[in-house]
Amino acid sequence: MNGRSAVLIPILAAFSLSAADPLKPAPPLRITLLGTGNPRPTPERSGPAILVEASTTPPTRILVDAGRGATERLFTIGKRDLLSSIDLVLLTHLHSDHVVGLPDLWLTGWLFGRSKPLVLRGPEGTASLMSHLEQAYGFDVKARRDVDERLPGAGADTDARDIPPETVFGVNGVKVTAFAVDHGPVKPAYGYRIDYAGKSVVFSGDTRYSENLIAHAKGCDVLVHEVVAVDVERRLSQMSPAATQRVIDHHTTPEDAGRVFATAKPKLAVYSHIVPSPTSARDLEGPTRKTYAGPLLVGEDLMVIEVGEKVDVGRAAGR
Ligand SMILES: [Zn+2]
Ligand SMILES: [Zn+2]
Repeated sequence: MNGRSAVLIPILAAFSLSAADPLKPAPPLRITLLGTGNPRPTPERSGPAILVEASTTPPTRILVDAGRGATERLFTIGKRDLLSSIDLVLLTHLHSDHVVGLPDLWLTGWLFGRSKPLVLRGPEGTASLMSHLEQAYGFDVKARRDVDERLPGAGADTDARDIPPETVFGVNGVKVTAFAVDHGPVKPAYGYRIDYAGKSVVFSGDTRYSENLIAHAKGCDVLVHEVVAVDVERRLSQMSPAATQRVIDHHTTPEDAGRVFATAKPKLAVYSHIVPSPTSARDLEGPTRKTYAGPLLVGEDLMVIEVGEKVDVGRAAGR
């Protein structure tokens, strides 16, 4: 961990901060924060994308959102084996920062070994988005399938479907629940809950304070929540005060996130999709502590959270 983590010590005292050991048996759930950022293109925080791996045989790999840099992050930690083996992509909503990495994941994943269709589920518009990407990238698919590399055609196919809120489905024995959250007038917007072997992780997606999120997150192991550092956003925003306020109103303040954590009581609360950049851990901890006293992690790209007997936080090690 780097020096900035010192800020987290009072909060994370209960957690081991060793890097994830690739030789250890895999825990039921392993969560890797690939991108903890927002639309601003900064190398420190990639766009929203989080990998969840369940210890099925073989492992089940679910990507929640595919923001900018998701493909680079996957390749950095797991080379072609990881990049080509994503079983399912869950989209929280169709704001560009959450989906702009999709063509890269789809096509580069195919080029680096995926031989089956890319499977996506998300709110209304997901299937349409993917079919338009297929149209847009038709040249590349045709060239690599029929002319240059002659890659297996199935790897260029997609299986993208819109799902209604409160959909529950399984993938290799891993349970996925989609539910509606409140991203203001930006509708539809989903959160997700993933359950496996008695362990669970819940993602808020983009939302302001949401009772439905709390209902789905009650007693989960890990709750990953978005957040907007209001003072920093006001200070750094280049938009009009009215537009800045609208952005703030469609996201969750640290005080409100703290209320969500205090009611849902996860074993570990995690901030990711941190608005704006740069926001420090200190900017978030003070206001969160007004409403929540439990375990809190201010996420950074490539942090790994292992959910087993206990919840461990480390750094992604190359595989
Ligand atoms: Zn959004
Ligand atoms: Zn967003």
